Order: sequence, then structure tokens, then C-alpha cells
Amino acid sequence: MSLVFDENGRPFVILRDQDKKQRVKGLEAHKANIIAARTVANLLKTSLGPKGMDKMLVSPDGDVVVSNDGATIMEQMEVEHQTAKLLVELSKSQDNEIGDGTTGVVVLAGALLEQAQALLDKGIHPLKIADGFEKACEMAVDRVENIATELDIEAHEHEELIKCAMTALGSKVVSKQKRKLAEIAVNAVLSVADMERRDVNLDLIKLVGKTGGSLEDTSFIDGIVIDKEFSHPQMEKEVKDAKICILTCPFEPPKLKTKHNLEIKNKDDYEKLYEIEQKYFTDMVKSVKDSGANLVLCQWGFDDEANHLLMHNKLPSVRWVGGVEIELIAIATGGRIIPRFQEITPEKLGNAGHVKEVNFGTTNEKMIVIEECSNSKAVTILTRGGNKMIVAEALRCLHDAICVVRNMIKNHKIVPGGGASELSASIYIQEEADKIETIEQYSVRGFAEALEEIPLALATNSGYDAMQYVSDLKEQQVKSGNPYYGVDAMNTGNNQMIEEGIYESVMSKKQQLQLSTQVVKMILKIDDVIAPSEYA
Ligand code: ADP
Repeated sequence: MSLVFDENGRPFVILRDQDKKQRVKGLEAHKANIIAARTVANLLKTSLGPKGMDKMLVSPDGDVVVSNDGATIMEQMEVEHQTAKLLVELSKSQDNEIGDGTTGVVVLAGALLEQAQALLDKGIHPLKIADGFEKACEMAVDRVENIATELDIEAHEHEELIKCAMTALGSKVVSKQKRKLAEIAVNAVLSVADMERRDVNLDLIKLVGKTGGSLEDTSFIDGIVIDKEFSHPQMEKEVKDAKICILTCPFEPPKLKTKHNLEIKNKDDYEKLYEIEQKYFTDMVKSVKDSGANLVLCQWGFDDEANHLLMHNKLPSVRWVGGVEIELIAIATGGRIIPRFQEITPEKLGNAGHVKEVNFGTTNEKMIVIEECSNSKAVTILTRGGNKMIVAEALRCLHDAICVVRNMIKNHKIVPGGGASELSASIYIQEEADKIETIEQYSVRGFAEALEEIPLALATNSGYDAMQYVSDLKEQQVKSGNPYYGVDAMNTGNNQMIEEGIYESVMSKKQQLQLSTQVVKMILKIDDVIAPSEYA
């Protein structure tokens, strides 16, 4: 590209390599886009459900990620094709809005695209298909709302919430520990939830991963954990009734801001300098001590001298505490963040009942645990696992479970999982399609068929003869009029999803339907792709 000026001095741009651009138009463009997006969606099909497979993704610099989470797989995949990238975004938006159902949303979009392809082959205009899908999506959402039931989330010590979290965890690597992790997730969300406003501030739940131990050692801490240790090995390892001074200034004498040199020519000069430095340190430590603080958390480092003095003055201290953690601690302990030593006053100190340093296993790794915070809202889930990959995946799973519980608190309604809701919506839409007289009926029917892809994929992944299994299910649902029959993925012998405790939040299901329809409609509206040759 180059910028040139015409005879009047007006700038204009010359685009070089115009001829190298590739252009795909019309039906060709539709089909090319659909194929690319479907390829990506098909990849995720085998990951759906409790018997779904995990994917191993290796980054260009050799980092390995093993995950079952749709959003994570899509994000790590480095998709090149522009339309397929829309599916990556789709998964991401489901993750941001709801936090769960990220695989399902992509599988559904893939199934819709497959139907769209068949409809295009029949000669139906893309916009007609898009309109039909839109209509069918509304019907599906209506149906899902109709079959939803309200849960009493407080009954039996929040047992229902635990079940929801367990459904989300069931398909993940961590499924063996799903009961324990689900309980931890529910505990964490309930501790920070505002039940009256039905709101949960997820920023107050901190997820910390520490390699070592096993998944079973994952624990819920009613307070904050920081991955640091006390700055001196001889400091007290435990502080009760802690009065915490939260500092964002270093325990160091001020440095010259301009480039001046300080020349020390003789011993007296040196001693004078040393004395002045000492005074700085003693003044700093004194100002902390005078405020009544018995614990110092500092965002910056300490000079060795200061560290030693702090130890002598029986002031346990932690240095290099991260900015986000500092803020969280300040909120939880009701303390103020103090930027200068002159500003330390007793009212600005934070309060916590118990602060201690804990050791892990034989690796001698340490962490600081701050419990019984006075404003106690912030909580931590400390995740353990044999290696880095497990810990990372466990953190992602817990995030999903926490989101599911939050969604349940926001909206108590649930729908059956295991593909039962999709199947029920599909049956309903097929009945409705017969009443439509226009050409849209074909795309509405196509949508209904696409919905069956979810139970089909679940059944395939669980080792059933999928077609046979899903048609039997359909018969069961139609005959009994009961929309709760779904895929018995775990082979329990009971395929009544609600009885089995396999629920999903209605919010998540609705969002899945709406988001995937939106993306498919968007793809269907593209009829011209102009791209540099290497992308086309
Ligand atoms: P997502 O990332 O979309 O949540 P998952 O791999 O977690 O994908 O699979 C979720 C699907 O698996 C949902 O349709 C859910 O209803 C279903 N599912 C979860 N647990 C079970 C189970 N025990 N039996 C049958 N289906 C299940």
C-alpha cells in the first residue's frame, strides 16, 4: 500500500497486489463458509457429554493443554479460516455470558450449518433459510421455557445446586471428584452471593492453583490465599487478631530521581549516610508499629536491612503481594491501601481473625492464608493436582461449575440435560412445521433435525447405536408426553433426566439456542468473501 498525492495535493492510497486477492462469490461463498465452519464444529462433537473425549492441544512453543472445555479448545486451536473464527467467537461469548455449555453451542451451530447446506442444495434462498431458522429458534426457546421447572434451591442444604454443578463437572477430567468439587463450588458461591438481589460477584471468588498433592486435596478457604511466604524465616508463622497494614510503598530509602552521583570520600561520610539510611528504616518500621499493626503486606520489596528490623520488631511481613490480591485483601479485611508511610493511621488497618503460613507436602512450598476477614466476602478455592495440566483443567472446570451455580441463583429454573430438552423442542417444532404453508417449513424442519444432533452426539459418545437410541427416546417422549427422557450416558438404567439429577439452567439452554442461531444466520448472509490469496 502506498500513499501518493495528486496534482492538487490531495492524498490517495494505491493498493498494490489487488490482482492477488481472491474472491469467492454467491453460492460458492456460502458453501465454502459452511464447510469451514462445520469442520471446526465437528471436531468438538466427540467432546460433548460425560463420556466425551478430551483434546490435547500443543502450542507453537511446545506448551501442552489438555481440555474438554469447548471454549478452551476453540481458543487454543489457532483457527485460520475467517468463518470458522466466528465459531470460536461463539464459544467465547457463551463462556462470557453463561460460563457453561460452550461445547454444546458449537455442536448445535455445526448441526444447523449442515442442515443449511442441504437446504441450499435444494435451491432455497439463504435468506429464507435464515428466516426459517429464526422462527424455529423462537419456538425452541418457547418450548424450553414451557418445560422448565422451578427449583427450590435452598432445600436439603442446597442439594439441587450441587446436582447442577455436578452435571457441569460430569463431563470433565475431574469427574471422579465431582461431588467434592461441586460442594466446594456451591459453598464458594453461597458465601459471596447476595440472595436478595439474586446476584453473585464472581470477582470475590479467587481460584488459586498449586501443583502438588492430588485433586482430593482441593479445599475451600473462607478467606484469601496468597502464593507468598513471610519475608524472613524467623518471623512468627501465625498471627491471631491480625491488624493488617496494607502498603503500596517499598521499605527502601527514597532513591534519587535525577541522575546525580553521590561521592563518598571518607569513612565519616559513609557513616553519616549509613546513619541516615538507618533512620529511614527505623522511622518506617516505627510508623507501622505505632499504628498498632501486627502484620504488614507490601506490594513492593524490602531492603534486607528493613526485613531484619521488621523481624526484630515482631512484625511479620509479606512482600511482593500482587495488585489484584492487595485490592481483594483490602476489601475483605476492611482496610485501606496506604501509599505512604506518613499516612499510616490505626483506622486504616484491615482486620482478620487468623493469618498463617502453610506448608505443602515435601516440596516446602508455602502460602499465606488469611481467614476470618472482618468484611468477609472474599473466598478462595485452592486447587491441587499432580501436574500443571491437571491443575489448569481443574481450575477451568471449577470456573464452569461456579458459573452454573451463579446462573441457578439468578434464575431458579432448570431444564433436563442429556439432550432431553433439545429432543423435546425438536418434536414440538416438527409438529409446528406441518402447520406452516410457506417454503419456510423446510428450514423450520431443518432446525428441528439439527436439534437432534445433541442427543445423537451424546449417544454416540456414550457408545450406543445413536440413531436407534435417539429414535427410541423420541418415541418415549411422544408417547408419554414427558419431556424428561434423555440420553442415559452413564448407563444407570434410568433415562429420566430429572430423576437422575441431570439438570441444566434454562438460561444456559436459551442462550445456546439463540447464540448458535445468530451465528448461523450471520454466516448465511455472507455471499462474497474477499481476502488476501493466502486466506482464500
Ligand atoms: P459443555 O461444554 O457444552 O457444557 P459438556 O461436555 O459439559 O459440554 O457436555 C454437556 C452435555 O452433557 C449437556 O448436554 C448435558 O446435559 C450432558 N450431560 C452431562 N452429564 C450428563 C449425564 N450424567 N448423563 C447424560 N448427559 C449428561
